[in-house]
Amino acid sequence: MALLYPRRCPFCNTLLDDTAPDGAFCPDCASEETRLAHLPPRLPETEHVLYALQGAMAAYYYEGIVREAILLCKNGGHPWHARELADRMAVRIWGAEAANVPGKRPRNELFVQMPLYHCIVPVPPHRPWPGVPGLALQLARRLGTLFQIPVLEALEVVPHATVQKSLTREERLQNAKKAYRCRPKVDLSGKRVLLVDDIITTGATVSACALLLLQAGAVDVTAAAIASKEDLPKEKRIPTEKYR
Ligand SMILES: [Zn+2]
Repeated sequence: MALLYPRRCPFCNTLLDDTAPDGAFCPDCASEETRLAHLPPRLPETEHVLYALQGAMAAYYYEGIVREAILLCKNGGHPWHARELADRMAVRIWGAEAANVPGKRPRNELFVQMPLYHCIVPVPPHRPWPGVPGLALQLARRLGTLFQIPVLEALEVVPHATVQKSLTREERLQNAKKAYRCRPKVDLSGKRVLLVDDIITTGATVSACALLLLQAGAVDVTAAAIASKEDLPKEKRIPTEKYR
């Protein structure tokens, strides 16, 4: 299998060999992977709007190699990178045991014995790439495989909704509430839901989606993403950044 599908570093596309840290990225990206890790993964409510959510978590800050990795995945490309990034979420957010060589899955005994969530719901994409599942769905599927819980495409974008990206923070909050809806006949009664997106910016999107899931019967909703858009804490900034 490894011969047919050689694994690549999701951050720089280098081929991975057996010396890859965590079996997941190349040695050259190791220091940046550590620098950009969101520790702890829980997002501060001072930086994001997080109503209707039990909490929100991200594996990384949306900067540097993490940003590049996500952009590579987004435009319909590199599904293998999406799988790699979902594995990093499992390790960074839930403390799954990292694989020791490329091609192995991270493991999390806690999830197998006592699922924290009953299902995973991806945030639907505004502009789907024809014929390719959105990045959030790709992440959700991989996490579903790792944690052995079903993926439910419970949400959809309301036709002609305005894309969040072009809006200010206040506009995002208002727009997000109108941009999504539950698919017909979705019943989440009694379910604890993990809501997955690629990036959490203001939190407006995940919060609006969480509210819809609660209205569909979910008992609680937690959001998780690869990365969060936030100012880097002082100790994580590269000294040259302040001169730019
Ligand atoms: Zn790399």
